[in-house]
Amino acid sequence: LQNIFKTEVIKKYPHNAARVAKITTPHGTVVTPAFMPVGTRAFVNQMSVDDLRATGSQIILGGNTYHMLCYPGMDVLRSVGGMHKFMNWSGAMLTDSGGYQVFSLSQDCKICRIDSDGAHFKHPDSGQIIHLTPRSSIEAQKIIGADIIMAFDECTPESGGRAAALAALERTHRWLLESKAHHEKNVHSAYGYRQALFGIIQGGSFRDLREQSAKFIVEADLDGYAVGGEVIGYAMPQTCEIVDWVKPLLPENKICYTMGVGLEPQDLIDVVARGADIFDCVAPTRNARHGALYCGKIIEDGHWLRFVGIEEEHAVVKEERAVEDESLTSPHATPKNQKKQEKNRLLIKKSLYAKDERPIMPDCLCYTCKNYTRAYLHYLFKRDAALYNNLASIHNVYVMQEVCRRMQMLIIGDSHL
Ligand SMILES: [Zn+2]
Repeated sequence: LQNIFKTEVIKKYPHNAARVAKITTPHGTVVTPAFMPVGTRAFVNQMSVDDLRATGSQIILGGNTYHMLCYPGMDVLRSVGGMHKFMNWSGAMLTDSGGYQVFSLSQDCKICRIDSDGAHFKHPDSGQIIHLTPRSSIEAQKIIGADIIMAFDECTPESGGRAAALAALERTHRWLLESKAHHEKNVHSAYGYRQALFGIIQGGSFRDLREQSAKFIVEADLDGYAVGGEVIGYAMPQTCEIVDWVKPLLPENKICYTMGVGLEPQDLIDVVARGADIFDCVAPTRNARHGALYCGKIIEDGHWLRFVGIEEEHAVVKEERAVEDESLTSPHATPKNQKKQEKNRLLIKKSLYAKDERPIMPDCLCYTCKNYTRAYLHYLFKRDAALYNNLASIHNVYVMQEVCRRMQMLIIGDSHL
């Protein structure tokens, strides 16, 4: 393995902004589009690193700076040689700056305060005040040792309107320059590996602010660019619109990371069509835990892909008819929309699966689908068995990676990687 960070575009898709790129890091290469399972607290819930590899995960989000400052703390991480060794993940890794977590925490001003220097929060046990600044965030990320680290930013709240978006943008830009200056003193981790620094574009849902932010951050000439803010990944129509605004402003040879995108397999397909390369989301493992298992077919639609739900054939047909009847009588009936969403997911708690001997998703080649039936997973879920969480998470993450592989194949076409 080489101690470098490099990105190259392998193939551009002629029909939309999708492309396949190769990211070379000191811990291996990543072929995009690539979904990153999230191990915020130095583990991906319910999954071992072998499970992650078996799903085809090439890169993970390993350890968030805020969480790592609290537990196990930088002393422990440094002494065990960083996050790769600590969690036994030898592949590529990205970590985030803590910006998003302190944004969530700052809703409660008793435990976290944000000012122009950074965020100041209380350690959950000791009550000791921890200062998270651009400099200390970068320093912590060097001890975590991820291959891609993020500039410390202020996440833009959706509720704050233009003034709040502008304030978050200005702070983010100032912190970006501070993060960059500190990173450039030594671009390596505490263990000698080259680290890439990505900047985060803010600006909320305001086009001019997003464009202003994209220009500023590109001007700073970083290793890659991320699109952040509360709305990204959460509301897909706005997310797509924002990516459409900023993507033309980003250099083609750099990676575009849409933060928090991946509530649904289709979400990946939608942002990749607009030029996104990498994304992370806790939803696949969280949905799995709550009994929602992705179930659909990845089909070619026009010149692109679509994830089409195929689940709950008999039961849903019946339920949908009932819903339609209801909507005829009441124009305000809303459950129709919810039902549509559920069609891309199988809700394993439903009794109709108690004797269903099929795998979760026909044609799925994940470990779970190759070995277990819906009937068994339904039983495990009902019994609250830990094994259920593991098997369900393997399937959901596999589906996200399968969507990425199918996009790669379509983009690459006949040529080879
Ligand atoms: Zn499966």
